[in-house]
Amino acid sequence: MKTTLFPARVPPVIPVTGQAGFPVARIFCVGRNYAAHAAEMGQEVDRESPFYFTKSAHSVLLSGQDMPYPPRTHDLHHEMELVVAIGEGARNIAIADAFSVVTGYACGLDMTRRDLQAAAKDKRRPWDTGKDFDNAAIIAPITPAGQVADLASLPITLTVNGEMRQTAMLSDMVWSVPEIIADLSTLYTLMPGDLIMTGTPAGVGAVVRGDLMEGRIGDLAPVIARVV
Ligand code: MN
Repeated sequence: MKTTLFPARVPPVIPVTGQAGFPVARIFCVGRNYAAHAAEMGQEVDRESPFYFTKSAHSVLLSGQDMPYPPRTHDLHHEMELVVAIGEGARNIAIADAFSVVTGYACGLDMTRRDLQAAAKDKRRPWDTGKDFDNAAIIAPITPAGQVADLASLPITLTVNGEMRQTAMLSDMVWSVPEIIADLSTLYTLMPGDLIMTGTPAGVGAVVRGDLMEGRIGDLAPVIARVV
């Protein structure tokens, strides 16, 4: 007798520049991590505590592929974000030690069915249908952490059809990368394969079929996807 009814789903693998690929386990996302974006969403940043939501590993779309316009939405939004790739386990890790578990960084798009998210917010329901759906996490190739100097000094931008939509500096993040890792590691045992999407700057907006999104952070490989 077979031991499983069907073959287990193989996790998506993100290319890593010059190294073997990164098999994705979990995707944690940080909410409201840029004050200007929180303001455009009608919210204030709560400096007391960051908050999180998750996407399934199976929501990953590799950069360079087309994103089919998802069902049950009329308001698909782009959110350009820095993605942190975790390469070692971490539990209750100190802020000062947190960079040691990062294996690399990537550009990513936290695609959002904004109408479904807004309806969920209104009813005080979970955000899952607005955030965690097929192809909702578009991830570019990972650059090894050792090749990224002075992370906070890097600009983060997103263009749609060549027109600038989002622009900020990573230093604008309310919660820094080591602060996020340290805090998350008090809630979850972080494991190799986990990704953290660290929140989006101001300028989020809708995309429609035919739009070409191109997101950049310093010299990291850009995240590129066309909505079809
Ligand atoms: Mn986001």
